[in-house]
Order: sequence, then structure tokens, then C-alpha cells
Amino acid sequence: EAAPGGVTDSLKEKYAQLIEQVRSARQRYYVQDSPTISDAAYDALFRELEELEALHPEIVANDSPTQEVGGEVSTAFAPVDHISRMYSLEDVFSLDELKAWFAKTDENARAVAGHKPGWLTELKIDGLAINLLYRQGKLVRAATRGDGYTGEDVTHNVLTIKSIPTQLAGENWPDEVEVRGEIFISSEDFRALNERMVEQGKAPFANPRNAAAGSLRQKDAAVTADRPLSMFVHGIGARSGFEVSSQYETYQQLKEWGLPTSPYTRLLDSLDEILDFIADYGEQRHSLVHEIDGIVVKINDFRTQEQLGYTSRVPRWAVAYKYPPEEVNTKLLDIRVGV
Ligand code: NAD
Repeated sequence: EAAPGGVTDSLKEKYAQLIEQVRSARQRYYVQDSPTISDAAYDALFRELEELEALHPEIVANDSPTQEVGGEVSTAFAPVDHISRMYSLEDVFSLDELKAWFAKTDENARAVAGHKPGWLTELKIDGLAINLLYRQGKLVRAATRGDGYTGEDVTHNVLTIKSIPTQLAGENWPDEVEVRGEIFISSEDFRALNERMVEQGKAPFANPRNAAAGSLRQKDAAVTADRPLSMFVHGIGARSGFEVSSQYETYQQLKEWGLPTSPYTRLLDSLDEILDFIADYGEQRHSLVHEIDGIVVKINDFRTQEQLGYTSRVPRWAVAYKYPPEEVNTKLLDIRVGV
């Protein structure tokens, strides 16, 4: 709406201030595993930044947080370059936004594939992303997402997680595959862990996500070994000698190799089914094994995914619908930050 040249000093100042607020929240969240604001408050800041940039495209800085994946890499760990880049997810915060995303993506997918796409719905686990590199069936390295190009080497810590195979089952392993998933702490384990922390006179974790991140990103792997970490796979990166044509087929193969796959994933083919899935899990979200902060909707077919491609931060073939924020997390966070 503002004409070029209509960028005032106060707008520039507001813009710089928003960027600074988002950066410092990210630092506290990703590097220190100790956020100072709630996820909803962070999402609102990020949204405000996106909206300001949409209104004034001429002020967008190349290094704006909207242009990059937001996990700074801590110097406490050795840096690891991912073979294939890792991305974040585009967020939508209402069903109307989700429907608009679906309409646009469905149309784009039909245009490139020549037929209607198949969709996957998955639970958006509130944990942290991990990249597991398997060579000839052996786990050779594990790294956090970091900024998407470079993550933190947490191999020793991941080796202590019982549900992650160090050697794949079966025989037909690829030469190389990057398996991506979410490390999390189940709701039940989270409660027990926080009780234990309080008994030991330590501050409890703000939420299961911070508990998982704080437990995985330990200098001493013995501490990690003592924490109840789990994982579900949600994708793959680079691969060689692994011929698969869809995300769902990939999960089935990974499951055969002994990797933990989510029992909640569904293959659907209409918007109505997706909306039903969202409504169902909105109701049961607190009776699941793990906390979720939303639902992820993905195009199933790999070729269509590739054709739709990526922005500098997110894939164009997936979206995260976030459920409205709830009291409970805010309260826990308030305890954590001593409010
Ligand atoms: P995101 O968490 O919104 O989405 C991307 C991530 O979702 C992926 O990297 C992956 O780890 C995870 N994920 C979980 N289930 C998945 C599935 N089934 N398929 C694919 N991915 C799945 O994005 P982000 O960039 O990691 O972080 C942004 C979010 O982190 C914010 O929306 C906010 O909730 C939180 N955050 C909070 C603060 C704070 O100060 N409180 C600061 C920074 C970020």
C-alpha cells in the first residue's frame, strides 16, 4: 500500500526493533533451550514482521528472520553440514488460512502433475528436528537442524536413545540416506521428568519441547541417556540407492528398517478429510502419547514436491496448521521464567 519512498524513519525503526525481538527470542529458544516468551507471543511477533514486509517489500533485509530457518548453532557442539538442506514449515493459524493454502497448493500441484494430488496429514510433534545419517545401514552421524545448512553434532547423545536403531534391520539398505524426524518426550515422561527436576531443586522445563531440546543438547551424553527421549520420523533428505516415489512409501520402508514411524499419519485425498482430521485431533490432543502444536499437511508424491520446490525458508508443498494457544503452556512458562 505504501509507495516506494514511503518508508519513514519510524517504520525503519519499527522494522529493526521487530527483527531484534525475533532474533533474541530465537537465541533463547534454540541455543539456550530457555525461552523468555510463549510460542504464541513469538508467533505473533513473527507474523507482524511478515505482514510489515508484505506491506513494504522494499525494506526486506536479506538476513531478515523471515528469509531463513531459525536455529542458530551453538558453539558448544561441533558443526555438521547437512548433505541436503533442512527447512522449516509455513504456518497457518486459522482454518480459513488453511483452506486458502490448500486451494492454492492443490491448483499448483494439478498444474505440474496433471492430476489431483494425494495428501498426507501428520501430527505436528512439539519437539526438535534431527537428521540421522545412515550409511550401509549404520548410523554414522546425528545432527540438529540448526540454520538448515549446518546443525550441531549430537551423535553421542543420539546413540543413547533406545528407539533409534544404530543398525537398520533387514538387508536392502541404501548406500546412504538422511532420515529426518522429531525428537520428543512423551507427555507422561515429561510430567515425571519435571517432578524429578523439582525434587532435585532444579527449575522444571517450560514444556515438552524445551525438555527434549535441553535433554538432547547436553555436553555429557550420560545426562541424555538418563532422559526419556523418543523419536518419530517425518521425512528424508539426501539418499543414494534408495528408490522411493512418495513420502508414505518412504515411511513404510523406514518402518521395516526398524525406525519409529508415527501411528497417527494418514493418507487422504480431500480437503474435507483433512478438516475432519484437524477437528478430531483438536479434541484429543491432550490424550495422545506426545504433545502436539498442530497438524502438518503434505503433498505425498515426491516428484510433485520437487516441482513445487522451496522458498528460502519453507517447502511449498507442506503447511503447519497451528491450534490456538492454550493456558496450560503459558502457566508452565511463567513458572519457568519465574513470573
Ligand atoms: P516450526 O516448529 O513451526 O515447524 C518446523 C518444524 O516442525 C520442523 O523443523 C520439524 O522439526 C517440526 N515437525 C514436527 N512434526 C513434523 C512433521 N510431522 N513433519 C514435518 N516437520 C515436523 O518451525 P521452527 O522454524 O522450527 O520454529 C518456529 C516455532 O518455534 C514457532 O512457531 C514457535 O512455536 C517456536 N519458537 C518459539 C520461540 C519462543 O521464544 N517461545 C522462539 C523461536 C521459535
